[in-house]
Amino acid sequence: MIAKVITDLSLDKVFDYRIPAEIESKIRPGTRVKVPFGNSFRLGFVLELAEKSEYPVLKDLFLADNDDVCIPENLLKLGDWIKDYYCSSQEQAIRTLLPGAVRSGRIHSRTVKVYNIQNEAECDDFIEKNSSKKTAAKRIACLNFLKNNPDSTADEISECCSVGSSVIKTLLEAKLITFSEKVVRSDLFEGREAVRSEALTPNPDQQKAIDLVEKLLDSPEEKKRTILLWGVTNSGKTEVYLQAIAKALARGLDSIVLVPEISLTPQTVRRFRARFGNDISVLHSQLSDRERFDEWMRIRHGEVKIVIGARSALFAPFKNPGLIIVDEEHESSYKQSEAPRYHARDVAVMRGFMENAVVILGSATPSAESFYNAKNGKYHLVPMRSKVDDKQKPVIKIVDQRMASLDTEGKKTFFSPLLTTAVHDRLNRGEQVILFLNRRGYARVMTCELCGYEARCPNCAVSYTYSRKNETLSCHLCGEVVPAPTVCPSCQSPEIRFMGVGTEKIESAAINTFKNARIGRMDSDTMKNAESYEKMLNSFKRGDIDILIGTQMIAKGLHFPNVTLVGIIHADHGLMMPDFRAPERTFQLITQVAGRAGRGEIRGEVMLQTYNPANETIRFAAADDYESFYNFDMSVREMLKFPPFGHLMTVHFKSENEAHCLQYAEYFKSELMEYIHNEVQISGPSPAPIERIKGKFRYMLIIRGEKLKVIREKIRFLLFKRRIPKDVEAYADIDAQSML
Ligand code: ADP
Ligand code: ZN
Ligand code: ZN
Repeated sequence: MIAKVITDLSLDKVFDYRIPAEIESKIRPGTRVKVPFGNSFRLGFVLELAEKSEYPVLKDLFLADNDDVCIPENLLKLGDWIKDYYCSSQEQAIRTLLPGAVRSGRIHSRTVKVYNIQNEAECDDFIEKNSSKKTAAKRIACLNFLKNNPDSTADEISECCSVGSSVIKTLLEAKLITFSEKVVRSDLFEGREAVRSEALTPNPDQQKAIDLVEKLLDSPEEKKRTILLWGVTNSGKTEVYLQAIAKALARGLDSIVLVPEISLTPQTVRRFRARFGNDISVLHSQLSDRERFDEWMRIRHGEVKIVIGARSALFAPFKNPGLIIVDEEHESSYKQSEAPRYHARDVAVMRGFMENAVVILGSATPSAESFYNAKNGKYHLVPMRSKVDDKQKPVIKIVDQRMASLDTEGKKTFFSPLLTTAVHDRLNRGEQVILFLNRRGYARVMTCELCGYEARCPNCAVSYTYSRKNETLSCHLCGEVVPAPTVCPSCQSPEIRFMGVGTEKIESAAINTFKNARIGRMDSDTMKNAESYEKMLNSFKRGDIDILIGTQMIAKGLHFPNVTLVGIIHADHGLMMPDFRAPERTFQLITQVAGRAGRGEIRGEVMLQTYNPANETIRFAAADDYESFYNFDMSVREMLKFPPFGHLMTVHFKSENEAHCLQYAEYFKSELMEYIHNEVQISGPSPAPIERIKGKFRYMLIIRGEKLKVIREKIRFLLFKRRIPKDVEAYADIDAQSML
């Protein structure tokens, strides 16, 4: 037999190897193998078996190790789809299917030597005959211990029976006990049990969703198996997930729960453990390689039936997933930013389709794509319109900043009189306030009044962000940090100005305006690690902080009952981005931030400060009217043929040599031209909105339309089968989420 093998450095090629007869039974598609490659050996995966090869002379392959690492066939198929759909190479697709810890072969199953009674009757016989002999006391103690504690290690025996290793040796020699190797896996929960919780009695909306899941689980022939669960925060979506998983579990089916990394908190995990015990696998970014390997093995060997994790948990090697849940399905973090640039939500739907699983997509503000599919009958739509606790929604006010940005002394201010008064009110009542601005740093740009100089990163086509605390300028794209100049670097004038606003400036303005308030700030400048994050959240929770200022880091999931006011400093920030998803993102962000207000007894209030009070996105967000926003956004997208009206893909080109970059992009386009038909448009090559990053010029092609299969094939061909100039990088981004 022949195996077609892919290795990590395959460059999209599979290689044929002969399978030696003696290991033939152990080789299947997906098996990890060791293959001779040049002068050395490499690990690879079998993609297919074949009777013959077109090559006359083949080398033999070997089994990689004893771990039986094998990509299940269902995942291999999914990988194949990813490769074609996202125009990636084969090895890139295979790489995403497995955690690095499993793929690399550096980590193996850990085993311990455990001891057991060899033969119960002989053992009892020995004990009876020797019970009165003082010299046999230690051996008898060991035997009695092993009778009650099978699979004990030498250490456990020594400790519990106070015997040395010689006793164990004697018993082995006497054939009274035996030993064997037992696999041990790391325990993520360190043996601690979570406090158990019972299923809550569902409200009518929840019941509808759970019934639908149950019906679909019981009708495998039903083709429409994806549910969009559209419910505001606190409408009880998570409770639906939990009960849906219980239904799958009762039918012996596995469940996968995807959550954005940022929501994968101990609190979330605790809720799942409280319902299902410790037999769940949690895949988060803090796992060690050992833990990741062990979790993969646990899933693969059917030791757990529930996985909860971020993006990559989608590839949990279950044999029979019955339910796949994608919480916060609109989150852009589900799109992988490196090849194969897949969207976990879309791959989840595809995996569901391939394996006939029920898929639940949950969100308060569904992506336009998913809502469109639901409206068109491709997905089931289950709205959950009421909050579980019948708390009133916060009052949302639009504050026109064009009028209000001067204070009583005629000075420019970031806080409108309305917001200022509202904050003072809260402080007087001992309530808490969140001020939100989606921009870190002190100022956005440093400019010179005299010559117009603007401080920009020399490697990237963006302005530096100024930090006053550190007196530095930094680039958010390449991380370059330089000391802030005190005079204009171009004309030496001291008349330099810092314009634009970031959270650091808001913080110092707040310190001036709200004199006695205790103020905290959360953004990527102040929160360097998980610890500082927890610390800040805890002191806010304890009430040691009155006003919390932050970026989108504070937008999600936080539950602080004493926060009764949320101020959004520039609600329209982000709307100006040259990206057709800017309105959608802004709407989602405002909705999320607004949801932080009034989670306790007192009704919350939200103030949206804006320079565009008439803007539709701002108005619909303030009215908490998702559907009107959706209709508005769709009318714009339809006109411009943006998704979900047709697909959108971009091909990116990067090079330090701008001319080469452009030339190659033009050649690439010319190669695609013969496949462009009347349902497809291609535009470019044009400079990307951020023209240069880390010293590399960037050009892109934008392709929009329907029926893109042939074009995908051609793009894949050009990227992987044709030579690309050495100094140019090219990649495709299918269903691109960012147009920058
Ligand atoms: P979401 O995921 O939509 O934010 P959750 O499922 O977390 O909502 O529910 C919000 C809160 O309401 C949780 O504290 C949860 O325990 C509670 N809850 C959910 N469903 C019910 C129910 N049917 N009866 C009582 N409490 C519920
Ligand atoms: Zn100057
Ligand atoms: Zn830079």
